[in-house]
Amino acid sequence: LNPPLVLKVQNRFAGLSEVFYSRQPPAPLSDPWLVHANEDAGRLIGLDRDAMHSQAFLDVFSGRAPLPGGDPLAAVYSGHQFGVWAGQLGDGRALLLGEAVGPEEAYELQLKGSGRTPYSRGADGRAVLRSSIREYLASEAMHALGIPTTRALAIVASDDRIRRETMETAAIVTRMAPSFVRFGSFEHWASRKQPERVRELADFVIANYYPECLTPPDGEAEVPNGVYLRWLGAVVRRTAEMVADWQLVGFCHGVMNTDNMSILGLTIDYGPYGFMDGFNAHHICNHSDSSGRYAWDAQPSIAHWNLYALGSALMSLLDNEEAALRSQLDQFEEIFLRRLYQQAALKLGLLEWRAEDSALLNSLWSLMHNARADFTQSFRRLAKVRIDDNAVDADGETFRDLFIDRDAADAWLETYRARLRLEARPDAERAAAMNRVNPIYVLRNHLAELAIRGAQQRDTGPLEALLNALRDPYTERPGLEQYASLPPDWASDISVSCSS
Ligand code: AMP
Ligand code: MG
Ligand code: MG
Repeated sequence: LNPPLVLKVQNRFAGLSEVFYSRQPPAPLSDPWLVHANEDAGRLIGLDRDAMHSQAFLDVFSGRAPLPGGDPLAAVYSGHQFGVWAGQLGDGRALLLGEAVGPEEAYELQLKGSGRTPYSRGADGRAVLRSSIREYLASEAMHALGIPTTRALAIVASDDRIRRETMETAAIVTRMAPSFVRFGSFEHWASRKQPERVRELADFVIANYYPECLTPPDGEAEVPNGVYLRWLGAVVRRTAEMVADWQLVGFCHGVMNTDNMSILGLTIDYGPYGFMDGFNAHHICNHSDSSGRYAWDAQPSIAHWNLYALGSALMSLLDNEEAALRSQLDQFEEIFLRRLYQQAALKLGLLEWRAEDSALLNSLWSLMHNARADFTQSFRRLAKVRIDDNAVDADGETFRDLFIDRDAADAWLETYRARLRLEARPDAERAAAMNRVNPIYVLRNHLAELAIRGAQQRDTGPLEALLNALRDPYTERPGLEQYASLPPDWASDISVSCSS
């Protein structure tokens, strides 16, 4: 009657020593309903639409039935929160059910909001529908923007009541990633002076997720601790490139604690994040972050700081050779800037990045910052600029309309046009290329809010429609104007905090 969920399941993380986790079954939601199933993510693990709308699917991903073949557990980790050592944290409301082996890759399936674990530290182990939808939307939006991220398979919800700043209802979001190991997973064992555990975890991560680090690049001789050095270098690279990508879509993570930094360089743990509307370089999206530690313009240096925390935790693997460690960590800035400039060239419609273009980019940031110009629209409308001065007023809304100080905008545009003339690329060709990299639809807070309000009334139409826009963020389509427009006045009251 109820066909079981057919998935090929393995449990590599559970094969580590038992000190790395606590075995734990989920605490089910009562009367769960399927808010959304992500068929794109399902395909990665061989699930089709029918399977994702089956009773068995709802049962497993609401915690009511075990994942067949799974070995559910909560992982332990520690971390630095807001720059301060926080000691042991761990999966306080998340459970790794097991790994689903897909046609290309295996993905860990993790319930978030499935009840208390030994790491809950007095909290309820639950997640509210609001934050679960925000996580779901953000991971799909980031994926469509080509930014490395954990994915989301499904959201299920219930009328079970949850106390936060107000009373809300419970949900479980199922996340997918090849691994959920964090920087803090290593800091945990280093802080306990157990280098053999640091090594066990590092060897596990390298063997399974960084096998290319096991041997030196072709033609190079092996160096002492070469495997660990190459691996740290690879983590530095992925992290630096991920943050460069964040900067260029106006994404603020909000809680860049070391326990929220993926060892795979994925964007992970979407809480009080935000895609900026009006650009403020010092924008703080998390109202609990009073000092602005995680402001937009601080994100690159915080990522570097977090890598230093990871590097310190890995010192024992490098025989405490500080110079070797530093040589890897010090690559951060160069890798970050290379990625930033490479992507900025595409966003500005330049065929190549020249040294003097960083001044052009910086003056654009200043212009946008001073006017609090909309981040997404500023870049999108640049495609309408024409090399020929006499055509300032292209059809429709122009770049300069975003600035009250038109003279300042015109002055910048003059420099920009002069730069474009050096390449003499036809306007139409440049515009088409720019529209393939500058999104028109991004996950603005007020759009997430409308999807949340719908789902809270069991109307998932707004969520579905928003996902449809976000899944192809570059192609302007009729009927989607509301997803491209500036936020309405009420949006300025939305505030996001760590409470979720
Ligand atoms: P976060 O700031 O979301 O990264 O969470 C920091 C730590 O708090 C992690 O160890 C989480 O598992 C834990 N945590 C957050 N919310 C809850 C909750 N409602 N119940 C139990 N643990 C939680
Ligand atoms: Mg976290
Ligand atoms: Mg969180």
